[in-house]
Amino acid sequence: MSVYYTTQTLRIAIESEKALNKSIGFVPTMGALHEGHLALVKKALSEVDTVIVSIFVNPTQFNNKADLEKYPRMLNKDIDFLGKNEKILIFAPEYSEVYPKDDSFVKIELNNLDEILEGKYRPGHFQGVLHVVRNLFQIVQPNKAYFGLKDFQQVVIIKKMVDFLKFPIEIVACPTLREKSGLAMSSRNLRLTDNQKNEALIIFQTLNYLKELKLKYAPQEAKKRAIEYFNSGFLSLEYLEIVDDTSLQKLDEFWTKNSTCCIAAVCGEVRLIDNIQI
Ligand code: AMP
Repeated sequence: MSVYYTTQTLRIAIESEKALNKSIGFVPTMGALHEGHLALVKKALSEVDTVIVSIFVNPTQFNNKADLEKYPRMLNKDIDFLGKNEKILIFAPEYSEVYPKDDSFVKIELNNLDEILEGKYRPGHFQGVLHVVRNLFQIVQPNKAYFGLKDFQQVVIIKKMVDFLKFPIEIVACPTLREKSGLAMSSRNLRLTDNQKNEALIIFQTLNYLKELKLKYAPQEAKKRAIEYFNSGFLSLEYLEIVDDTSLQKLDEFWTKNSTCCIAAVCGEVRLIDNIQI
């Protein structure tokens, strides 16, 4: 397994893979890798010949300076975690490799999809995500790119960008990996104490409770009851919303065929998100 720090050296490596007719998969990450990331890498390894894993904490998607500063960074550990596998190439660039001086990015119009749910609480976050993913896609030029449904809204928005920019890249959405307890795996969990990890279980418990509520109540009433349940715990809720999977519009009176419940909450100083399809 090789580690590339510059766009130029990575491009050379990818070109030689492509010259051998190898298909390229891409797993963008911000590092502090865990089994959830590994699941994306394994899925990619099962579908393509060569997998590029990028490790880059992207400043443009953080709207909170302290959150960016406290984001865990552990490149050497991440490299070890990915293990020895010739099919994996790691890309660990500096800022200037991802955002060269002549870089420009025009805001992508998403009909407010980037301003609701996460976008409402993290203004500018999704345009930052799209900027870095666009730049990384241009560097890696993969056949397929793998994203986790843990960041459900991100998957929807990235698919929109790929359509809009007509990138010939298939976006593969992968299920959320959880701890045995049900807590969604996240690099941010490293900042939780054991006690906080227990308290954070209220997120998954509430999501499951919503499955029961769906059998009896319309979305609006189910949401109200789920919030009451959530607030019996110790976390501070930012939002709990039930939305249609495709349009991301809130559901009030009726359930649609595919609906997802999304929760964002703060545990101690750590902001956590999770969702399930219900
Ligand atoms: P991050 O490093 O947090 O930017 O995540 C990189 C990728 O891994 C994103 O596509 C995430 O959605 C995905 N991911 C993060 N946590 C999980 C998880 N628990 N299960 C599945 N995918 C995940």
